[in-house]
Amino acid sequence: MAFEIARETSTFRYGMSNPEQLQEWLKENPHAIGLSFVGRSNVGKSSTINSLFGNKIAKTSKTPGRTREINIFSFKIKSDGKILEEIPEFFFYDLPGYGHAEVSKEMSKNWEALMSTFFGSISLHTLMVNIQDARHPNQKSDQEFHHFLKGFNFETFLLFNKIDKLKTQKERSALNKLKPILSKEFKWVRQIYFTSAEKKNGIDQVEEAIISYLLRQRDLLESM
Ligand code: GDP
Repeated sequence: MAFEIARETSTFRYGMSNPEQLQEWLKENPHAIGLSFVGRSNVGKSSTINSLFGNKIAKTSKTPGRTREINIFSFKIKSDGKILEEIPEFFFYDLPGYGHAEVSKEMSKNWEALMSTFFGSISLHTLMVNIQDARHPNQKSDQEFHHFLKGFNFETFLLFNKIDKLKTQKERSALNKLKPILSKEFKWVRQIYFTSAEKKNGIDQVEEAIISYLLRQRDLLESM
């Protein structure tokens, strides 16, 4: 692959827990090109981010729902080993996980305010990467999130992670059976991937597709 994510340039920029503060950043960056990661807690969102953007950039944890902030990171890309300095930096957003029942009303109110600010105001040059657990795909909260996302106009990728955990033939064939159903149900989803952040399966393909998305957005903006 000629292009790759320059992992050494991945930098944590801001942790936003306050919708007003987030709104301000979004206003200052109306043409930001980037991608955001969202999924139920514990599906391997942090692990996927780490495998794409460099070891331990996002915190992995065994405690579901610990991150209640939107974390903003910047990064650059490389071509044939050389960092492309002439291209503006890109951003990625680590969004707090959805679908855990044990948070207080106050916390879930703030979560909703943060998410509606984010999706309502983020640049349309943002790819949405939804991560689900391959063993438990399309849960109620995943469906609710997709219903919400459908109302916007973002290009979306769907990743089914933890495929290495599908040990039995029964589990694998259940997922295979689901593939055509998911493709039909998520017709508006641009691409579907099967990954293991742990074993690095499918990660190269996701990286390639992300870079192709970013460069396409850069060209679009330049031609405007
Ligand atoms: P997050 O809450 O979605 O950010 O999930 P984390 O990345 O913190 O991962 C939750 C747990 O799942 C951790 O114990 C990870 O080591 C594990 N995990 C993440 N991705 C994979 C994967 O592809 N395969 C396996 N077997 N475990 C994974």
